Amino acid sequence: MGIYLDHAATTPVLPEAAQMLAEASLRGFGNPSSIHIRGQMAREAMDEARQVTAKALGCLADEIVFTSGGTEANSLALIGACLARQDSGRHLVISAVEHESVRNTAHFLETLGFRVTEIPVDPAGLVDPGDIARALTPETILISVMTVNNIIGTVQPVTEISELARKRKILFHTDAVQAFPNMLVEPGSLGVDLLSLSSHKFRGPKGMGVLYVRKGTPLVPLVRGGHQENGLRAGTENLPGIMALALAIKRSRENLEKAETELRRLRNLLAEDILANLDHVKLNGHSERAAPHIAHFSVDFTDGESLVRNMDHEGVIVSAGSACSSEEGKTSHVLEAIGQSGPLARGTVRFSLSRETTEQEVRDASAVFRNVVVRLRSASAAGRFA
Ligand SMILES: *Cc1c(COP(=O)(O)O)cnc(C)c1O
Repeated sequence: MGIYLDHAATTPVLPEAAQMLAEASLRGFGNPSSIHIRGQMAREAMDEARQVTAKALGCLADEIVFTSGGTEANSLALIGACLARQDSGRHLVISAVEHESVRNTAHFLETLGFRVTEIPVDPAGLVDPGDIARALTPETILISVMTVNNIIGTVQPVTEISELARKRKILFHTDAVQAFPNMLVEPGSLGVDLLSLSSHKFRGPKGMGVLYVRKGTPLVPLVRGGHQENGLRAGTENLPGIMALALAIKRSRENLEKAETELRRLRNLLAEDILANLDHVKLNGHSERAAPHIAHFSVDFTDGESLVRNMDHEGVIVSAGSACSSEEGKTSHVLEAIGQSGPLARGTVRFSLSRETTEQEVRDASAVFRNVVVRLRSASAAGRFA
């Protein structure tokens, strides 16, 4: 089966959650909006799943909106908040390293007449809350800064940003998709108004997500129709998906602190092993504010695609570590933001672990990586001198 180290892209579904998905599909086919017994059973199962999800996040059940994924949660947060607040101003602030689902949604809002300020990051990928404070105007209605960057793993100063947002009465959204289940995520203690999660990043089914909406946060729904999800997302609920998501989030929350510590140990072991055994390799991201599951490297004299393909061939699955790399000719906005996108013959690679990753897998992956890099470099050197 090989060694899967691309958990930031997606995680394998928890067998228990897959089973729940199948069982609920076969048996729990009622519509929660129906008043008959089938409907009532479905309604109860929905309520229970919502309670379980809220408990894992330390919030209230009616602060949970189930969506079709992290992308939809981000979309609803940004468009919903901007439309709800547009009478107070039409300016929003995001970081330069947001996921496409935030970034492209913000750019869409520009076509509706909103103004977007992108806050640059330092070479470690970190946003300075001072820069955000300086970008705010009386017109600013929303700030969106991710909790953990999905490419390089930098952990943003969300609590500091939420404090300044609260002082200025500006809504604050965070895309916490990469944070959970690798770090504790509690919207209450982070002080955010809106927070997005994606089920397939925490071993739940694909096509499911959560938007936490702090009680009282004004939001305009995108999908209109019935009154499902507190009127914030119309349409008959994906009950089997919601039940499976709730189970996965509950399992992820169990022993999370311990899992985070072990995950960080393995991630650091991987990074140290690679840096100790290869020259011209740089670990990207922040030395202190690093997510426990992501190690992203710039590797001179190679390219990301060859690295990924060759490692795949040897049974180790990683990512090229540059979103957009699949779109020809486009450089990653994240690598550009940290100044790593020059014309250098330089590849990038992202390893992302999970709490199921073992020390042996980390050591084996590191050895394979070393061999592949050495081989690619000698091939390219041979090519150059031919
Ligand atoms: C994966 C990811 C998303 C998108 O979530 P989907 O459920 O796949 O739509 C959003 N933000 C970040 C940071 C992600 O890593």
